[in-house]
Amino acid sequence: MVMYGGKLALLTSRLVKSRLMSIREMSTAVNADCVKSLLYKEYGDPIEVLQVTTQTVEQPANDQVSVKWLLAPVNPADINTIQGKYPSRPPLPAIPGNEGVGEIVAIGSSVQTLRIGDKVVPNGPNFGTWRTLANYNFKDVMKMPSDVDLVAASMMNVNPCTAYRMLKDFVPLKPGDTVIQNGGNSAVGQLVIQLCKIWNYKSVSVVRDRPNIQELKNQLTSLGADEVLTEAEVRGTQIFKSKKLPTPRLALNCIGGQSAHEVLRHLAQDGIMVTYGGMSREPLTIPIASLIFKNISFKGFWMTAWTQANTESQEREDMFKDLATLFRDKKLQPPPHKLVPFCEYQEAISKALSFDGKTGVKYILDLTKS
Ligand code: NDP
Repeated sequence: MVMYGGKLALLTSRLVKSRLMSIREMSTAVNADCVKSLLYKEYGDPIEVLQVTTQTVEQPANDQVSVKWLLAPVNPADINTIQGKYPSRPPLPAIPGNEGVGEIVAIGSSVQTLRIGDKVVPNGPNFGTWRTLANYNFKDVMKMPSDVDLVAASMMNVNPCTAYRMLKDFVPLKPGDTVIQNGGNSAVGQLVIQLCKIWNYKSVSVVRDRPNIQELKNQLTSLGADEVLTEAEVRGTQIFKSKKLPTPRLALNCIGGQSAHEVLRHLAQDGIMVTYGGMSREPLTIPIASLIFKNISFKGFWMTAWTQANTESQEREDMFKDLATLFRDKKLQPPPHKLVPFCEYQEAISKALSFDGKTGVKYILDLTKS
């Protein structure tokens, strides 16, 4: 388990008190009628295969904690997982939800590092967070500092970490260097913009055109974007030739297809394009000249694989500490979002399913409203 703020040394009296509390809390928490989850028994269209079920949750075993889930985002990967189109294929039946934030409502007798009331997030992928309550081994959850906003905590594991790692792990960027990305208004893209600002990198974000494009440009600029260009604008932009901004050494590709191609054209000699999403569902076409004459490299990034390889690493602990501090200090803000009561989950799912995109917000299930 990764923790923040040093080791928690609990006094014996506190332990006793907290265990007594755990029993008291569980008597209200464990109620089969109010422990609900979404469940799918087969892969397919999420609207069709997801169903609401109720379960009984036992009191936590000695090394377990009971987590009352509070908020859980609906990410593209959650939808793809339910569809059976994602590399992670949990055994069925499965409860969806890769990330979220919950509150500990009871603890087992040997758990010393967590307390009732602590806010926690999953300590790994495919957790099944779209439910109201469940028991976990205490090592499988990670404590969040209490002063981190709940919405930020609920989406900590996926998008902020993805933005953070892609900026750290591929090109040794220096202050003043430029990063170019498409999907600049995606949740990941908005975090990339903000981290670039914090670390003094220039960012150029490409977005799809829309009737209210200036509104979107203003929003991303206010987050710290140096340039926001539509896909048509990026093709003819002179910002690099004119030396307004240094030619980018790192490109982040969330979209694929023509969008990726336009971004790629601006990469500097020996630059790297990191692909982490394929929202257009179009393949990445690589011009031969970019390989032969510019020595561009193409890499992929998958947060799940990074987490699995780094679960206990110092780098991971440092990353969560950094991100939690940045959210706490309001230097990072979560992307625009809409909380949807758990009982109205179909709204969030159908919006997330929309191939046209342009939803403008990240949908987050409010699991306290079941
Ligand atoms: P969001 O839902 O916040 O953003 C989606 C983005 O995709 C928006 O920029 C949207 O632009 C664009 N988009 C949607 N539909 C299309 C389309 N048909 N054609 C072109 N662009 C489209 O998503 P997230 O930030 O949560 O995730 C973005 C991508 O990154 C996803 O593919 C996700 O799976 C991936 N991802 C990958 C990770 C990894 O580890 N590899 C980790 C986290 C995310 P518009 O407003 O114009 O519709």
